[in-house]
Amino acid sequence: MSIHLDWLQNEIQALKDAGLYNTIRTISSPQGAWLKIDGRQVLNFCSNNYLGLANHPRLVEAAKKAIDQYGVGPGAVRAISGTNDLHIEFEKRMAKFKAVEAALSFQSGFQANTATIPALVGKEDIIFSDRLNHASIIDGCRLSGAKIVPYEHCDVASLDDVIKAKLGHFRRAIIITDGVFSMDGDIAPLDKIYDVAKKYDILLMVDDAHGEGVLGKGGRGIVNHFGLHGKVDVEVGTLSKAFGVVGGVVAGSAIIIEWLRQRGRPFMFSSAVTPPDAAACIAAIDLLESSTELVDKLWDNARYFKVGMKNIGFDTGLSTTPITPVMLCEEPLAQQFSRELFEEGVFAMANSYPIVPKGKARIRVMISAAHEKADLDAGLEAFQKVGKKLGVI
Ligand code: PMP
Repeated sequence: MSIHLDWLQNEIQALKDAGLYNTIRTISSPQGAWLKIDGRQVLNFCSNNYLGLANHPRLVEAAKKAIDQYGVGPGAVRAISGTNDLHIEFEKRMAKFKAVEAALSFQSGFQANTATIPALVGKEDIIFSDRLNHASIIDGCRLSGAKIVPYEHCDVASLDDVIKAKLGHFRRAIIITDGVFSMDGDIAPLDKIYDVAKKYDILLMVDDAHGEGVLGKGGRGIVNHFGLHGKVDVEVGTLSKAFGVVGGVVAGSAIIIEWLRQRGRPFMFSSAVTPPDAAACIAAIDLLESSTELVDKLWDNARYFKVGMKNIGFDTGLSTTPITPVMLCEEPLAQQFSRELFEEGVFAMANSYPIVPKGKARIRVMISAAHEKADLDAGLEAFQKVGKKLGVI
């Protein structure tokens, strides 16, 4: 190894010593309640496949048909080589599903954030950002060059204070918040945040990655959950979680979407998701519009598991959604817990710094409509066994 790269060896060893090194497992089965890993069937407690759509026959069928009709690749950047009619159909369907004027598809939720924020604010502007916002929001904010002013997590009084302190010192301003916070599972008080945005006439953007397919009527997301239609300027979302596919989306007013087509850099300079992806996403909307069964099952499962974990004696934090953080705090303990769970046939990853603050390590259990009660019981039993063995409960 070149001497110039010695520092990397030291950095990697430091991560290992601190219990922060992430070992990624290899999966050799479709996504679902159970996965095949290292030749074993293990209970899947860490996918964001909230509704079990990642391997749903209707989505698989739609993707196969799209491959037959359109092949596998998008060809090039949409803005350069033209756009596929499946992308247009998806965007229209998504806009209708979310009751907004227009929507635009991106390669991922991450790209949707890094496209949208710099397109709306720049060097002379200011961003008021929840302290626990997702990494893709943080990166989008940094890319914009705007001044970033964090406010305390979900704290509307803090938001009001920081805005008041900065009034008159910016050209444009935007408030950005996650809808559901991915590591804690708590929900942003979007109705109250909207009141502040309105009071100061500031743009409002929400990242609904963990709210789509989960919150609101039939999974229509956080804006529907709070009844804020027409009041939130921009909704960013992902198609890789509840929608079970891959890609990102921005939904909002027609003028913002038109602007993103002209100035959203990941849209302008990077190829789109493939035709089978777009077709599978349309099939996901079909399913969500036809029944609330999967969303209802997701919430039923989430309630069942959380009550079970509390009864056993675990601290599951502040979550009010299917995201179930099992707080262990010390990083090495969280990693050991995850390894022991795997020995018991449960795949649940430890989340440590920099994904969560130092000293707040946890196992984040992701409940899905793909789970049956028997699966959840098996998971609870494994948690109880490992929790006792490691002295957590
Ligand atoms: N926003 C939030 C809040 C997320 O949790 C995630 C995924 N971890 C993303 C954006 C990025 O989504 P994607 O995986 O589609 O890039």
